[in-house]
Amino acid sequence: MTQTDHSAHAVALGSGGAARLAVIGGSGFYDMPGLEDRAEVVVETPFGPTSDPIVTGRLNGMPVAFLARHGRGHRYLPTEVPVRANIYALKSIGVQWIIAVSAVGSMREELAPRDVVIPDQVFDRTMHRPGTFFGDGIVAHVGFADPFCPHLSASLGDVASRSGITAHRGGTYVCIEGPQFSSRAESHVFRQWGIDIIGMTAIPEARLAREAEICYGMLAFVTDYDVWRENEEAVTVEMVIRNLQANVAAGQRIVTEAVSHVRHDRTCPCASALHGAIMTAPDRIPEATRRRLGPIVSRYLQ
Ligand SMILES: [Zn+2]
Repeated sequence: MTQTDHSAHAVALGSGGAARLAVIGGSGFYDMPGLEDRAEVVVETPFGPTSDPIVTGRLNGMPVAFLARHGRGHRYLPTEVPVRANIYALKSIGVQWIIAVSAVGSMREELAPRDVVIPDQVFDRTMHRPGTFFGDGIVAHVGFADPFCPHLSASLGDVASRSGITAHRGGTYVCIEGPQFSSRAESHVFRQWGIDIIGMTAIPEARLAREAEICYGMLAFVTDYDVWRENEEAVTVEMVIRNLQANVAAGQRIVTEAVSHVRHDRTCPCASALHGAIMTAPDRIPEATRRRLGPIVSRYLQ
């Protein structure tokens, strides 16, 4: 699993900027139109290669990095997405904010297809994914009571509300393992639990972003009503694909606007999530582990 036991190094191919904000595109969202002065950045990580090369450039005048979560061409199952490599690589190039764009199913009548939800909670039903950078001789417990950055989410809510599509602030995202969709029984139980939207990728992305002290906010675009709803009209694959395409276009518009509205003073708790979280005595942390997690932990292990 470990490719290198030293911290990552980035190889920029062409020109780029020091992007402090990254966009992770989900299903259908494999590129960021409007991204200028493009450069592809390949970052070696101790967790293997990222889903795809990171594309850096300028969007709406701001330095931005873009990463296709499933790889261009959609090559990774939700379970297979190399999330630790992705978040580690973004951290290594200096990213402090991630706008995650995801396709979700709706668990509520009022969250209609083509609406966008900016979730504020997550419920983890995944089973087979490495969900932490820690271990191998270093123990840390970060807070995850509020999985999404409140400031970044507020900015995304403001921009989405002005975008002409229906935006919903707050909501609970249940993350299932997939790749199959839910059974009808699961879908009904999720509704009883108070779940608002369902997807397959917020976890462990949000967990790892928190461990890496990166602000994480999500634009979750509704494609369909999952399977709980007794539909009066037949849901067709064509309809879902048309919704997905419309959502991707809306997501690209909102992201383009949002990058210039992110608050650049990080007074949110995400920026210091690791403060006081590392339990292991510094002199007991193996040197190889210390080096491997350098971009994430070095400022706490002087
Ligand atoms: Zn934050």
